[in-house]
Amino acid sequence: MEPDRQTRQAWTAAATAFVDDFVSGLEDAPASAHDAPVPADLLAPPPEGPGDLADLLARFGDAASRAIETAGPRYFAYFPAGGLYSSALAEFLSQTVNRYTGIAGPAPALAAIEQSVIRWLCDVFDLPAPAGGVFTSGASIATLAALHAAREDRLGGPDPRGTLYVTAQAHYCVAKAARIAGMTADQVRIVPVDADLRLDVPAAAEMIERDRAGGRRPFLLVATAGTTSTGTVDPLAAAGDLARREDLWFHVDGAYGGAFQLTTRGREVLAGITGADSIALDPHKGLFLPFGTGVLLVRDQARLRAAHTATGEYLQDLDRDTWPDAADLGPELTRGYRGLRLWLPLHLHGVDAFRRELDEKLDLSAHVHEALSADPNLEVPLAPDLTVSVFRSPDGDAATARLLSRVNDTRRAYLSSTRLDGRHTIRLCVLSFRTHKSHVDEVLEIIHDAARP
Ligand SMILES: *Cc1c(COP(=O)(O)O)cnc(C)c1O
Repeated sequence: MEPDRQTRQAWTAAATAFVDDFVSGLEDAPASAHDAPVPADLLAPPPEGPGDLADLLARFGDAASRAIETAGPRYFAYFPAGGLYSSALAEFLSQTVNRYTGIAGPAPALAAIEQSVIRWLCDVFDLPAPAGGVFTSGASIATLAALHAAREDRLGGPDPRGTLYVTAQAHYCVAKAARIAGMTADQVRIVPVDADLRLDVPAAAEMIERDRAGGRRPFLLVATAGTTSTGTVDPLAAAGDLARREDLWFHVDGAYGGAFQLTTRGREVLAGITGADSIALDPHKGLFLPFGTGVLLVRDQARLRAAHTATGEYLQDLDRDTWPDAADLGPELTRGYRGLRLWLPLHLHGVDAFRRELDEKLDLSAHVHEALSADPNLEVPLAPDLTVSVFRSPDGDAATARLLSRVNDTRRAYLSSTRLDGRHTIRLCVLSFRTHKSHVDEVLEIIHDAARP
């Protein structure tokens, strides 16, 4: 199982050749092929004896090609990030050295590198010490950890009277986290949204007051900095004021939108996010990382730690005081060394490279909104807060579904849809670092063509 140097080089050369072909092919790769049949031999069990790497790479490449081209420049569905090559390289490096980083003691300098990124993110959101945070697999686990910490902090633990407040536009990971945490559906209070789909703060205040009078114990208000359907940003400053007034933990779901805090325009749109008790971020969205890296930031790291800390007698040899142990800040113990996936790209490309990419996406999105709004065959119900544009056919749901199929069937672009006010609505998100003006102009032309009666 330990290849000699020559074999190692041959394997790595084969893998990098595969990767080079893949990346060079992205500009013209079909935007979707997930409807291609799945070859039955992919279900074959592993052989007793050794296989051939070239064969296996070919099999993997074929399987990967039968997919939505989520890495490509004309992927506009859900939240396209692309997947930075430098981050994939970081993963190769950290998996090779295979240091143990669930607890900091066995590799303290690697824990320090990870902390440097967490601290930088805290600075981006103006969260001074004692703020902190942890890398997670994504925003869902970040949200679960935040909800658990909020409940421990405000209620001292599970309480059937405890209630949290969230809008119907929030990501379902909030309700899912509540369910995993043992809360019943009626403990998740759905706050109405206004005509622009933003959290209605006065309505939330009324609900909280009524619930408290009825013997409930409100403990958490969740606002979204960029909703999944429309990219809409809740009134974060007013929501934060309400939470503080009512002594609720204020969590901001910035899985998609949080990264725009790096830009001047983003800071304006996200004003008030710096008042959060916790913020969920998804670097695998707004910071272009490959899938699998989320972050939870907290205003007071001790509260996150108090909710998650645990130990075993077999850990008695380790220093557990110098650096925060990731295991004490979330549900995981052993985990990949996620921090390098963000540290290497940040240090290699520089922060300004990220800022410029995000600014470009804001410009492109404004351009998309303008072009779609000018098309007499389309209805555009909302202007984008960040980089999600929504539109539909004025002729109803079936016509909108047909329009989406016509666009995606070209295989030159891939978009997804949602429901707004009960109506089928197409969404177009510009977020990949690989997406530039030419790609946006191409998809706009495809949409105008497909919308023509
Ligand atoms: C994507 C998303 C989530 C879920 O994040 P995962 O990383 O998929 O777990 C949560 N909230 C919002 C607003 C999202 O866009």
